[in-house]
Amino acid sequence: MENLKEFGEPSEFWQFFYEITKIPRCSTHEDKIREYIKKEAEKLDYQTEIDEIKNLVVHIPSKKGATSANSGIVLQSHMDIVCEKNKDYPHDFSKDPLKLKTIEIDNEKWLTAEGTTLGADNGVGIAYQLAIMKKIHDGTLNFDALDLDLLFTVDEERGLSGASQMDKNLISGKYLLNLDSEEDDRFTIGCAGGRVFKAEISFERELVSNPNLIAVRISISGLLGGHSGTDINKKRGNALKILTEIIWKINLKFNILVNSLEGGNLTNAIPREAHVIFFIEQGQRNELEAFIKDLTTNIKNLYEGTDSNLEILIDLLKDFTDKTTFSKDFQNELIDLFYIIPNGPISLHPTNEGLVHTSLNFAVVHTLENVIEFKVSTRSLTQYDKDVLFEKLKTLLKMSGLDIDIEIITIYPSWPPVFSSKLTEISKQVYKNVFDKEVIIQAIHAGLECAFFSYYYPNMEMISLGPNVLGGHSPDERLNIRSVSKIWKFLLALLKNLAQFNE
Ligand SMILES: [Zn+2]
Repeated sequence: MENLKEFGEPSEFWQFFYEITKIPRCSTHEDKIREYIKKEAEKLDYQTEIDEIKNLVVHIPSKKGATSANSGIVLQSHMDIVCEKNKDYPHDFSKDPLKLKTIEIDNEKWLTAEGTTLGADNGVGIAYQLAIMKKIHDGTLNFDALDLDLLFTVDEERGLSGASQMDKNLISGKYLLNLDSEEDDRFTIGCAGGRVFKAEISFERELVSNPNLIAVRISISGLLGGHSGTDINKKRGNALKILTEIIWKINLKFNILVNSLEGGNLTNAIPREAHVIFFIEQGQRNELEAFIKDLTTNIKNLYEGTDSNLEILIDLLKDFTDKTTFSKDFQNELIDLFYIIPNGPISLHPTNEGLVHTSLNFAVVHTLENVIEFKVSTRSLTQYDKDVLFEKLKTLLKMSGLDIDIEIITIYPSWPPVFSSKLTEISKQVYKNVFDKEVIIQAIHAGLECAFFSYYYPNMEMISLGPNVLGGHSPDERLNIRSVSKIWKFLLALLKNLAQFNE
């Protein structure tokens, strides 16, 4: 690695950041990084604690003696990284150090890793915490009146299990600063909670007896998809919704018998592909093709500009051997349900323009031999609305006439945004004083660890912040070098300001 000294202040940040890029830390394999942080803290005589799920905290007590239990500050990051690499790049995440390099884009210097993720998400958080710890210890930083807890969680990337299962006695404080955001001109102060459920419907298959029936497949592809939370308001097509719109119309006009419906893959992704296989009279084939051609024009118009590569294809399946179908009644009820099940943003935040309040992603449909299985992911900024949406969906499923079993797969709390909390107000003011600019205050429509912290410590105020990182979770991940100093400057000014209140 080239000279870290050229990266700007503080050099301790870059030293720690570099050290931890040598340590394996894929999600659920955080042993070595936890051991490293613990040792660094113990070298300086700071007390550490590890909870059952293996989160680590370092306590840095106020030099003024114990302040009241709820006046401290928690600085938090997660220890794990997303381990992604380019297919042909030789790298073993369980032992190889990352190979760092700097690149320049539009006169900006960025740090990145050769062929792999960089782990700036969330290595920057760890490096800030350790740099602060070290500088407090050697006396170059002084927040005498602050009790600081440095919290390092496990397994953020895979399922937030470190935050969701943390020991409630591990930390205490009035404010928490989460160091896991990736834009230096904004602070996040709230996020959506969610509920993902799976529904199963049993059915009996019938045999195709009419020899004049042919098997046809209609498939949807070419959609952008995206994250079911942060991309849900981008008017992108949902392959399953487009497919059921088409099949509902075909079912009304033609005498068809459906064999299967398939689509989607992950519950946190907007489905990009889906297909239906059905039987239709040979003689109706031309009419069907003309009908779909018209439909395709109308539907493609709707997605011009957001999903211009949408493709709707019809194929004749000459060698299709599974001559079974849904019963006609089951088919009608199922297609009705999938046609009217809501999708996308359900409501917007009343005052924060563009922020989605409550949403739903009709995510996955699978046809098994005698079961249709589908998965739905819902999100909301409030617990109440999340429950209302779930109640409405259950009611809708009941009204469908189908016998449906529901199983909750995951459920997690929201971090309800308070746009004028004391910590937000102080942070805005400090940012303005330091940079002579207004910071953007935002809430996001996706899950963050802060949701669990705010659920477990309802009186703790929190914000999430961090330097500019682009291409997260991919081998293109890169960290803006200048931005690290910017957030450092802000952090110190904020901590100074917060320390005053305790003096
Ligand atoms: Zn992260």
